[in-house]
Amino acid sequence: MARNVFVTGATSGIGLCIAEAYTKYGDNVLISGRRAEVLAEVQARLSKEYGVRVETLVLDVRSREDVESKVPAAIEAFGGVDVLVNNAGLAQGLDPFQDSAVDDAVTMIDTNVKGLLYVTKAVLPYMIDKNAGHIVNMGSTAGIYAYPGGAVYCATKAAVKMLSDGIRMDTIATDIKVTTIQPGIVETPFSEVRFHGDAEKAKAVYAGIDAIQPEDVADVVLYVTNQPKRLQISDVTIMANQQA
Ligand code: NDP
Repeated sequence: MARNVFVTGATSGIGLCIAEAYTKYGDNVLISGRRAEVLAEVQARLSKEYGVRVETLVLDVRSREDVESKVPAAIEAFGGVDVLVNNAGLAQGLDPFQDSAVDDAVTMIDTNVKGLLYVTKAVLPYMIDKNAGHIVNMGSTAGIYAYPGGAVYCATKAAVKMLSDGIRMDTIATDIKVTTIQPGIVETPFSEVRFHGDAEKAKAVYAGIDAIQPEDVADVVLYVTNQPKRLQISDVTIMANQQA
């Protein structure tokens, strides 16, 4: 039976590929992000291509007020939620800590940690009600291994992993599953966002590496959510063959 899958950050990169992987598989998706026009384009393309239901939700995950009011309404209109993919996130700046902008740090914490928290809080009651559901949180190898300039980004992704593990324990008496996906370097617009739009600097990130592609991550997300009820995959770490 087709599932209802809610994907945050589905206008670009990994989230867009995750939404496409589910629609291709025959599931319905609720896609969200801040860019309404991109969401509309993705909605038109995916629903036409795969003949499934594709709904959109314009949402800035940093706004607790918006998440608390818009997410429940969207889920009810969608007819419930079986899978939540908390994918919206970013790196910004990534200068040595002593030179870094506090505003960049706050943006990363607000998006990657607080945004994920708000969305999960809004969605979880629907899963608890049904005693079923799967939450997939997008962590990173950055949450396992710190690197120069990455203090705050790495801290946000370590927080994602700990939030996932904590929520899994707190919902242990239910049939809800929680998984953290921890990719290494993935070739997406992420690096351009990270360097405030500097395409040259962004390209240099992938130099000499056959970087994994967003489709690779999407395949893994689909795989972890396609397991039998008895089997839970707590976390998956994937990286390019050449990534140390
Ligand atoms: P992209 O920049 O391509 O996509 C980021 C997505 O997040 C966009 O759809 C964007 O949508 C959304 N987003 C960003 N800020 C907000 C916000 N405040 N509210 C709602 N949506 C937001 O990057 P990736 O696809 O590479 O990244 C996706 C996830 O994967 C992130 O969590 C990232 O940390 C993680 N990751 C990425 C890796 C990489 O190397 N690329 C490696 C490991 C993890 P919009 O602009 O429309 O709001």
